Amino acid sequence: MSKVMTINSGSSSLKFKLYEMPEENVICSGNLERIGSPDGIFTIKYNGNKDVTEPVLENHAVAAKLLVEALVNKGIIKSFDEIGAIGHRIVQGGKYFKESAMFNKDTESKIESLIPLAPLHNAAHLTCFRAFKEVLPNCPAIATFDTAFHQTMEPEDYVFPIPYELTEKYDIRRYGAHGTSHKYLSIEAEKYLHDTKSKKIISCHIGSGASITAIKDGKCIATSMGLTPLGGIMMGTRTGDMDPSVFNYVCTVTGKSAEEVYQMFNKKSGYLGVSQLSNDSRDILDAVEKGNKLAKLANDIFVRRIADYIGQYFVRLGGADLIIFSAGIGENEPRTRASVCDAIGEALGVEIDKELNSTIHGKECLISTKNSRIKVVVIPTDEEVMIARDAYRMCIKESK
Ligand code: ADP
Repeated sequence: MSKVMTINSGSSSLKFKLYEMPEENVICSGNLERIGSPDGIFTIKYNGNKDVTEPVLENHAVAAKLLVEALVNKGIIKSFDEIGAIGHRIVQGGKYFKESAMFNKDTESKIESLIPLAPLHNAAHLTCFRAFKEVLPNCPAIATFDTAFHQTMEPEDYVFPIPYELTEKYDIRRYGAHGTSHKYLSIEAEKYLHDTKSKKIISCHIGSGASITAIKDGKCIATSMGLTPLGGIMMGTRTGDMDPSVFNYVCTVTGKSAEEVYQMFNKKSGYLGVSQLSNDSRDILDAVEKGNKLAKLANDIFVRRIADYIGQYFVRLGGADLIIFSAGIGENEPRTRASVCDAIGEALGVEIDKELNSTIHGKECLISTKNSRIKVVVIPTDEEVMIARDAYRMCIKESK
């Protein structure tokens, strides 16, 4: 019996799950929100209870202490020592990390050196790691990187065609994101590939942030996000790939600074920017059904970008055995899945059971028909369990 805590921190939030490993049972989960402002929210779910309180969360150290003390006070654990390991999700691992790493001085300084590539995320992750180190000084911790799974790409897939000295000097390249999710999905998908010689998967993690990854024999071949999560397919508020000159032209015609336009492309574009309505797929698709033209345009672009990437990766992989839909939209939105499969259907011989598809929300299901040349499956993703598995293996099992 070993308990492992996973932590997913942002600049003002901290999501957690406590697992019993190796059984992978979730003992409790929840989050601490609005860290740094006077009106914090602490939500914890355990044993069928959901407790919500409104403590002042001055900083991450206060939040971490409150969380660990709550676990004891609520009788979820008897003492702090019961937590055998902590796994922290880290957004940017740069060129350094091909897999999860034990947290030590070297790991810390590498994550710190990558802050310019993920300013909000990596800085918050480190603050959070240090906060837990203070509360649980003897508990080993690991870092699991969103970028690690994508480190198997070849240079043709990760080098951008800019002057090469910049690539070398500043490590400018495609790092991708959502790697922990794509890896989880490729492992979960193995059961659908027993009858195929090759194992070629196109994994579509489509939520507010969205990325598509080509996976061959368990390894990432190509992924849609780029240097940062701004690249790839269109998203809730991000542009995805565009002609780079749009950036310069928008600066010129609006008089906005590069930073302002960068923020616009990250936070005010995508679904939200085109529809002028919402970044949420539910609002967009409801508006489409009511005849809203800009919502329809936003949705049509969204679907086409996904279909284009699937086509690109079909070629890149030399065919495909399985297409996976996952994350908020991929798991819950049958209309988007149906539109994407319609768009690729003729070229790739993909056919889904539309009636079955319309009933699938947030659960695993094979939705393609027997006639489909590529299997299509919905798989709910679980990044936390991947982090918990690594934390258990590296800190508990291998140290026994
Ligand atoms: P992220 O983790 O990138 O913030 P999510 O994976 O949570 O994003 O996905 C958010 C998107 O998923 C939103 O566009 C939302 O509309 C959609 N979504 C989430 N839940 C549902 C649902 N139950 N039905 C339809 N769409 C959903």
